[in-house]
Amino acid sequence: MTTPVTTTAATRDPALAQICDAIRERQRFLITSHARPDGDSIGSQLALAYALQLLGKDVRLVNADPAPEHYLEFPGVERIEIAREVVDNDADAVIVMESGDFARTGVKGLEGRFTINIDHHQGNSRYGNINWLDESAAACGELVFDLIRALGVPLTLDIATHIYLAILTDTGSFHHSNITPRTFDICRQTVEAGVQPAAMARRVFDSNSFGKLKLIGALLDEMELVAGGRLAVLYLNDEILHATGTTYNDTEGLINLPLTAREIQAVVFFKVGADGDVRVSMRSKYDVDVRRVADRHGGGGHKNAAGFTVHQPLKDVKAGILREITEAVEVGLQSRP
Ligand code: 5GP
Ligand code: MN
Repeated sequence: MTTPVTTTAATRDPALAQICDAIRERQRFLITSHARPDGDSIGSQLALAYALQLLGKDVRLVNADPAPEHYLEFPGVERIEIAREVVDNDADAVIVMESGDFARTGVKGLEGRFTINIDHHQGNSRYGNINWLDESAAACGELVFDLIRALGVPLTLDIATHIYLAILTDTGSFHHSNITPRTFDICRQTVEAGVQPAAMARRVFDSNSFGKLKLIGALLDEMELVAGGRLAVLYLNDEILHATGTTYNDTEGLINLPLTAREIQAVVFFKVGADGDVRVSMRSKYDVDVRRVADRHGGGGHKNAAGFTVHQPLKDVKAGILREITEAVEVGLQSRP
C-alpha cells in the first residue's frame, strides 16, 4: 500500500529537510523534553529514538523528571535517564521536544551543542540551530511522525505506539480543538502498523490505582464552582495526598474530570507543593482560551490546556487568577455559535 503524501504546513517547512540532513550527518543524539514530561513528551522522544536507532545512530534520552506511572510500561521508557544535569554530554546534536524555551527542559549541561528544536506550542523562543515549529499540530508526535517518514524509516509497532500515545494524550483523548484531518490520518497509519486504540486507551486512562480513585473523591468533594457554575476549582495539598495514600504523580489527568459536567467550561487545578510554589493547571472547552491566562503569568500551553507556576501564597493570587479565567470563559462563550 502506498502512503499518501501529506502536504501540511509542517511538511512544507524547510526546517524538516534541514533536520533530516542534520540527522544523516551526525551519529550521537541526546533527546530531551520539558520537565514533568507528559504523554506527548514521552511518545515523541521514544518514537524518534527508535527511528534513529533504525538508522544506526546512538541515542541517549534524558528528562528532568520521571514519566507518570501509567507510561512506565510502554516500550523503552526505562531507557530515559532522569537527571537535572548532564555532565558528560558528548552528543553531536541535542534534540529538544515540546519546550517553548531551552530552560523548560530543566536539565543543565545541554547547552552549546548543535540543537534541534521541535515544538507545537505558541511563542517558542527559537533557541535551536534548527527550529521546526508548527502550532497547528495537535501533538509534537505529529511532527515526529512527519520527520520519521521524511527520514524513510518504516513505521514499526514501537514507533507507531509512541506516536499514537503522543496524540492520544495531547488531544486530551480526542477532546481538544487542535484536532485536524492530519491527526486522524496519522492515527490511521499507526493502527495499520498494529496499534490497538482500545488497549491504548485502557492502558493510559483506565490504569488508576485504588488510591487514585479515593483521591478523585477527595478532590471532587472539595471542588468549588465559580463564574456562575461555569468554572470549577480544584485544590491539592500534601494532606489530601497523605489521606488517600497517593503521590503528586497520581494527579495526572484528574483535571479533566470536572469538564465532563455539561455546564462547566473551564477547570483550574491549584497544586500547592512542599516548597510553597503553586502549580496552576487549566483546561477548557471549545473557544475558552486558557493559554492567554498562562502567558500572562510566564507559563504557556494551548488554548484548551495550559499552565504556569506562581511563587506566592495561593491566598494572595487566587482571586486574581479566578477573575482572569472567568473573563476567558465569558469571552469564549460569546464567540460560541
Ligand atoms: P499541565 O496542566 O498538564 O501541566 O500543562 C498543560 C499544557 O500547558 C501543556 O501543553 C504544557 O506544556 C503547558 N504548560 C504547563 N505549564 C507550563 C509552564 O509553566 N510553561 C509553559 N511554557 N507551558 C506550560
Ligand atoms: Mn505537546
